[in-house]
Amino acid sequence: MTQLEDFAARLKTLTDGRASAPRLKDGVMSLALDVAGLSREQRDAVAAAIREGALTVPGVDDVRIAMTAERRPLKIVAVASGKGGVGKSTLSANLAVALQRLGVKVGLVDADIYGPSQARLMGSEDRKPQARDKQLVPVQSPFGVPMLSMGHLVEPGKALAWRGPMAGNALAQLIEADWGDMELLIVDMPPGTGDVQLSMVQKHKPVGAVIVSTPQDLALIDAIRAVSLFEQTQVPMIGLVENMAGYACPHCGEVSDPFGQGGAEAAAGEMGMPFLGRIPLAIDIRRRSDAGDPPAAGDDAHGAPFRAIAEKVAAWLRGGR
Ligand code: ADP
Repeated sequence: MTQLEDFAARLKTLTDGRASAPRLKDGVMSLALDVAGLSREQRDAVAAAIREGALTVPGVDDVRIAMTAERRPLKIVAVASGKGGVGKSTLSANLAVALQRLGVKVGLVDADIYGPSQARLMGSEDRKPQARDKQLVPVQSPFGVPMLSMGHLVEPGKALAWRGPMAGNALAQLIEADWGDMELLIVDMPPGTGDVQLSMVQKHKPVGAVIVSTPQDLALIDAIRAVSLFEQTQVPMIGLVENMAGYACPHCGEVSDPFGQGGAEAAAGEMGMPFLGRIPLAIDIRRRSDAGDPPAAGDDAHGAPFRAIAEKVAAWLRGGR
């Protein structure tokens, strides 16, 4: 094998075949890289290989790299609810973890700037994001999902006084961070349907929205308001999730329905939108969430409803929307 062939083979391995074979022309070597498809590690490895490798190809005194400049657009899925406390953050964290287990390159943004909880839910409270070229670099969660939350940037409670534009700017910094070759961002929206939510949706154009509700009528009325915010802005509905549905007593096993039953599924039917599934009210889900151990990361029963919902979301995304 010549040195050039050897170099080409190395590049192919480093880039999963996305670098086209180098061509040697009058002492100038060109190679084409599909940069949009490369991770930062791959790009660094290629740069290192060019530094070490190219110089050892006899007769080569210049390397030209043709890069496809187009970046694959990062898809955003918004997880929203009409009001707080219904489990929107819990679902967002578990959805991100479950999607990443399905092989999706997914990141998580905690856009709930007034009450950020993702750093705790994902066990990444001790990590601080760095900035590179004025862009934030996401932190890695222990579950392999890169993420950013206001909880990583400000003291708890500090963002509470922020009004519209400031909150919107902070949010934009999280969403427009250096997400590398990420395909999908799960955005845990602030609860409610005010200006911050509306401008986020208008500016960042999610490809779809998941709405979370508990089964009570009042929560459902708020959920319907959230649905109309996305409809107004032409964001497609992926579907509705019913959280805290049915309580299984950990002692006697009896199942009761503290917030009623089936309300969200019926409401989804009335609105003509898909129903994605039901997550039971379970003490274990709360305990594990508080401990930074999202149930979807394991293989037991408490993670199952989250994994089933993630499969439906992945199928919806594969449908090309
Ligand atoms: P939101 O983001 O809508 O404000 P959270 O996800 O923070 O709601 O959930 C509010 C509280 O309810 C948290 O303490 C969380 O652990 C708990 N919780 C959420 N979903 C469940 C569930 N299915 N079973 C038990 N507790 C839950």
